[in-house]
Amino acid sequence: MISHAVYFVALPIGNREDITRRALDVLGDVDTICCEDTRHTAPLLAHYGIRKPLLSLHEHNERERAGQVADRAEAGERFAVVSDAGMPGVSDPGYRLVTELQRRGISYTVLPGPSAVVTALVGSALPSDSFYFGGFLPVKKGKRRTLLSCAAEQSCTSIFYESPYRMAGTLKELAEMHPEVQVCVARELTKVHEQFHRGTAAELAEQFARQPMKGEMVLLIGGCNALPKERCSGQE
Ligand code: SAM
Repeated sequence: MISHAVYFVALPIGNREDITRRALDVLGDVDTICCEDTRHTAPLLAHYGIRKPLLSLHEHNERERAGQVADRAEAGERFAVVSDAGMPGVSDPGYRLVTELQRRGISYTVLPGPSAVVTALVGSALPSDSFYFGGFLPVKKGKRRTLLSCAAEQSCTSIFYESPYRMAGTLKELAEMHPEVQVCVARELTKVHEQFHRGTAAELAEQFARQPMKGEMVLLIGGCNALPKERCSGQE
């Protein structure tokens, strides 16, 4: 079953049943599981009946851990790498480790599975043939405004992770610049209270100002392909 030294394994983004058989097999077969927060991952693994030694790997120790995991993998230990939710390496630790493994020629693979970015895209009903993923929106106002404005003018759909505490303000900023752009806020994906809020930037800014929302959220901006044809200058 185990043929690689390190497996990057996607975990559910909410619904615990969203895990592949292969992921369960690999998590059950490796020697050690690297995770962001052992207090978060241990109960999830227990739900699947998996008990393994856990090693913390998070944004503050990834550089140092990458070398240690690579050393141990070279000595024959087999690892799985997970993040708190979704795909490791996507707005989560993983990138530094994968580059270290690649640099040293240590065999690794990725087990596909849930990620909020593609789940939100497909459910948003915005054009999904091409998209830009910007990770977390910057907190600095100037950079955020530039990114939001570019997103509204691009031909593809743009996707950002955003804090629920900033979402209302972000929608207001976007609405001030591009009130008619099509927007979707995908909230609590795969969970009981999953919702897709759709409308123009002005409509969603008004909705979120009236009723601030909690939970995990993804912001999708339709770009000019989601507007009537004559409004998109870059379109053929
Ligand atoms: N690695 C993860 C992935 O593959 O999607 C992303 C991790 S990032 C630290 C966490 C952010 O992803 C949240 O702040 C939110 O923007 C988004 N997210 C994760 N789970 C979500 C969910 N169930 N519903 C909506 N957004 C979610």
